[in-house]
Amino acid sequence: MHNLWLLISIIIVLSVSISSNTLIINSTNIIETRDDNNNNNNYFTSLCRNSLVACLDDITYLDKNGKNTKIQTDLILLDQINSTKLKEWIDILSSFHTRNTKSNYIENVAYWLKNELQNLCEGRVSFHNYTQNDQNQTFNLKNIICSSKQEFPSSSSSSSSSSSFSPHPAPHYNNTIIIGAHYDSRAKNINDTDARAPGADDNASGVSALLELVSILSPLNLKNNLEFVLFSGEEHGRWGSTNYVKYLDDNNRTKTIDLYLNLDMIGYRPSNETKNKVILEYDVGNKYVQNDKYSKNIALFIKQIASNYTNLEAELAKLENSDFISFEAFNHTVIGIHDGGVKKNPHYHKSSDTPDTLNIKYLTSITKMVLATILELDKISQYLK
Ligand SMILES: [Zn+2]
Repeated sequence: MHNLWLLISIIIVLSVSISSNTLIINSTNIIETRDDNNNNNNYFTSLCRNSLVACLDDITYLDKNGKNTKIQTDLILLDQINSTKLKEWIDILSSFHTRNTKSNYIENVAYWLKNELQNLCEGRVSFHNYTQNDQNQTFNLKNIICSSKQEFPSSSSSSSSSSSFSPHPAPHYNNTIIIGAHYDSRAKNINDTDARAPGADDNASGVSALLELVSILSPLNLKNNLEFVLFSGEEHGRWGSTNYVKYLDDNNRTKTIDLYLNLDMIGYRPSNETKNKVILEYDVGNKYVQNDKYSKNIALFIKQIASNYTNLEAELAKLENSDFISFEAFNHTVIGIHDGGVKKNPHYHKSSDTPDTLNIKYLTSITKMVLATILELDKISQYLK
């Protein structure tokens, strides 16, 4: 399950040693390592055949004329991020009186999101329905999912629950990256379910970035399977993600998950700060300690992506509290991405968390960082096999 991250960890340690190498990908996509100081470099050659993480900066492609060119192909995709759409989705989501999970509005929000995803997702869109009991009440709630690839029945003869239709049969391919964001909101008093709670930063910002990522990524033929999930119930104690990851586990789907990326509050930028800071939360402890190193390595990897492709300055911090905790509890590698707004945004959980307080350029940069991360990870996977 964690082969990818194991390689990342090995290579981050070794990357300093190979920084003087020249790495070339020739037209047949075989990676060659040429070390001017050391001809006997087969070890690193084979390492780079398995994972490109540490080599990304040093890699050049040979174009048709035999000239070295830096990898540029993704830049076209990165420029496709549509700030106007990001703003539009935040406006619409914030215009629901509240998205409190216990309110009467939550069902309408779920249907609106499903409809929106159906326009964008070139894979399968579905509800994950779950029931949650709380304070002697039962709530029928929904997560909404876009799976980026058309799934097909497993070729193995295992007959596990094959008689009943499952909206998400186990896919063939191994690596799945889940990108999640919660769509519920809350007022200061969480039990005041009818109070105005626009939740623009928390978390219409994450939802809108996710929708944009779906629109750009789902038409691509990527090596990794991508799953985009919008959760309800985060504010009430991660109900949606807890139920979803349990559902995945019950259906033997957790083995394929390589990484969970969480977007929660990514649109607020304090006007008095000179830098565009973004927080990358990585796993320290929590339920499993053995997955910590993979999380830290991927955080370092994203930090590098941020510096290569965006104007963001990424800071690492320990995992706090959002939907990633549900995935960590099943031993997955998780990362939380946010603007630091729990401490910095004065509108946090208030009726003043409105779209006009957000910085759409900043949100666009974070969306770009996530997009670049997914694309770079896909390049690595292409060389893993
Ligand atoms: Zn949140």
